[in-house]
Amino acid sequence: MKNIGFIGVGTMGLPMALNLLKNGHALSFYDPFSDKKTIEALTEVGAKQESNIPDLCKSQDFLISMLPIGKNVKDVALGEDGIINQDNTDLIYIDMSTILPADSIEVSKQLQTKNIQMFDAPVARLVNNAIDGTLLIMVGGSLQDFPKVEEILNCMGSDVVYCGAIGSGSKMKIINNYMAIVSNILTAETLSLVEKSGIDQKLAIELMSTTAAGKGHMNFSYPKKVLIDDIGPGFKNVLALKDLRLAIEHGESEGIELTSGKSVVNVYEKAMDTKYKDLDWTAMFNFVKESNNLD
Ligand code: NAD
Repeated sequence: MKNIGFIGVGTMGLPMALNLLKNGHALSFYDPFSDKKTIEALTEVGAKQESNIPDLCKSQDFLISMLPIGKNVKDVALGEDGIINQDNTDLIYIDMSTILPADSIEVSKQLQTKNIQMFDAPVARLVNNAIDGTLLIMVGGSLQDFPKVEEILNCMGSDVVYCGAIGSGSKMKIINNYMAIVSNILTAETLSLVEKSGIDQKLAIELMSTTAAGKGHMNFSYPKKVLIDDIGPGFKNVLALKDLRLAIEHGESEGIELTSGKSVVNVYEKAMDTKYKDLDWTAMFNFVKESNNLD
């Protein structure tokens, strides 16, 4: 049993805190904006409410925060009454909010000056997973000390993955969300075009689930080509660009604006003046890396 202070008991923080209690840990919480229902949900199962961070920090083994944005994390960690200015420096601080990696690194650096150890451990998946304790948790911080936090994080997640030095949890989370959030619009535009084109939605989803469109390049086309250093065609980029333009033109004729497609046309166009024109479409990974001075 550990003593845990929890900061921010909102949509995600409340079920996460409840799971720590369910696993037998002693929990205090601080959230100046929490409502009566939330406070009751926690206090009824043995949690203690604190009205400021100095009181929350006293005799804790761990402090966990689950806050909306980086500024909130900086306020609770580095503010006048923040974690950095408390006497208890034996605790380990785990921030589970989704914030900029640079903010995680900066907060950790400052806390280190008081010998307070920090891990960044943002979560993926939905509120139902927070309730069931089946979150995916991506952790950055000391590898040697990771086992100390793993036991606590296992109470809230079914997949707790060590990603690297401090900031790596935030980096992995943001990279994952970048792909998921951009492909969300791509999916929405694609299915709108399916509907407007008079194609059966179920048929289209089943069909596309067998191609790079539905399986995703990372799982489908890249492993067979560019990731094993084979960039010979294959499906040439010049033909991929032709098909992209066909889709955009067809979309226009159906009254659907394909903004995702339009935003990448110029990347393929730039490749047309290079050797990549006649190389495999997965070679665009190398083209993008070169364009960003990688390799
Ligand atoms: P939320 O707004 O529901 O909860 C945040 C809580 O923090 C609120 O109760 C608020 O009162 C409290 N808070 C704000 N400032 C505070 C302060 N200075 N001190 C103490 N408490 C403070 O947000 P959420 O949905 O629980 O999300 C929290 C984090 O988790 C965000 O970074 C979000 O991006 C991330 N996240 C959310 C989901 C989701 O589905 N909601 C999923 C994955 C990750």
